[in-house]
Amino acid sequence: MKILVINCGSSSLKYQLIDMDDESVIAKGLCERIGIDGSVLTQTVPGKDKYVIEQPMPSHNEAIKLVMDALEDPEHGVIRSTDEISAIGHRVVHGGTSFSESCVVDENVKQVIRDHFDLAPLHNPANLMGIEACEAGMPGKKNVAVWDTGFGMAIPEKAYMYAIPYEYYEKYGIRRYGFHGTSHMFVSGEAIKFAGLDPKAAKVIVCHLGNGGSVSASIGGKCVDTSMGLTPLEGLIMGTRSGDIDASVVQFICNKEGKSVDDVLTILNKKSGILGLSGGVSSDFRDVEAAAAEGNHKAEVALEAFAYRVAKYIGAYTAAMNGVDAIAFTAGVGENDKKTRKNICSYLGYLGVEIDDEANDVRGKNAVISTADSKVKVLLLPTNEELAIARETKRLTE
Ligand code: AMP
Repeated sequence: MKILVINCGSSSLKYQLIDMDDESVIAKGLCERIGIDGSVLTQTVPGKDKYVIEQPMPSHNEAIKLVMDALEDPEHGVIRSTDEISAIGHRVVHGGTSFSESCVVDENVKQVIRDHFDLAPLHNPANLMGIEACEAGMPGKKNVAVWDTGFGMAIPEKAYMYAIPYEYYEKYGIRRYGFHGTSHMFVSGEAIKFAGLDPKAAKVIVCHLGNGGSVSASIGGKCVDTSMGLTPLEGLIMGTRSGDIDASVVQFICNKEGKSVDDVLTILNKKSGILGLSGGVSSDFRDVEAAAAEGNHKAEVALEAFAYRVAKYIGAYTAAMNGVDAIAFTAGVGENDKKTRKNICSYLGYLGVEIDDEANDVRGKNAVISTADSKVKVLLLPTNEELAIARETKRLTE
């Protein structure tokens, strides 16, 4: 059974064709600059040369057609016809409170995606375009929506309500939703399997630390809290996002600099975080670490503040669950940066966490990085959102 996984941005489309018999990636690719000049598709197939098609893609419809052509290409492709594709799984960012579970797309599902355009203005319209392009290009095939907010939908009221007048929740659905749900669902499940924990009761904290970052707490695979909120801005310090701040900062900057609320929100989303705190060095940890190693004080503080914030969330979530069995690191920083993992864990001695430096000297593969005596298992578990989406798609369409 072959599943096509699609992840659409406003001007991009990522795809993977996955063979579910052994969960291997048969082909993957990226369409960039959709709707703008210089559109290009790049496809990678194990054992074959990279395939690049430079052709106009005015919309996601043309992009999907090009993906189908690339997959079917006699020389560079991997299938004879798209008939070999059993179903298509889509990453959809916001399902609001309507969906906690992945589902087969129908008119109602598409309406829910539309209803949440205002909560995810960059992503939901693109996600819907991807679904409609697949419906047009491969009619009759089942499309499955896997929600980024799905995993976080399980969190209880006390965790998702903001302490603002209740009417805003009732009128506009202003509450915490949580994002990166597919990654948190995948990694928390892997943590239970990999560490041999009780699937019904295991208390797991997942630290998804990439350019965007979030922490989740789950008991028996069910999310009880997660750090992102109404939007992905809340929570950790990220590559370019501030994470938690006093909302008065917005008003203060508006008044001092004559900026609009929208301007300041753009600053908080795109120019803050590690980038802002390091005085503009970079949003990439590798650059900020290099600057810190050369004695750049702002870069040093940025890295310290990042680790400190993650450690505070781990402490808060341990309290929320009254304990923790495993802490898992994932995503770009979590999977590659042993120093940051070690820095974060240096705050967790009170939990009996002990890192094994040799075991922590690892990148991008499943590993236990704590000592045998550590009271809490600390894990490195690479995330795989595409595989998680493919598994959900298989489960719902088989
Ligand atoms: P992601 O969003 O999961 O793709 O993560 C991307 C981020 O991971 C980059 O912006 C880097 O900050 C970080 N990253 C990737 N490789 C390394 C590395 N070897 N050391 C430190 N950070 C890394």
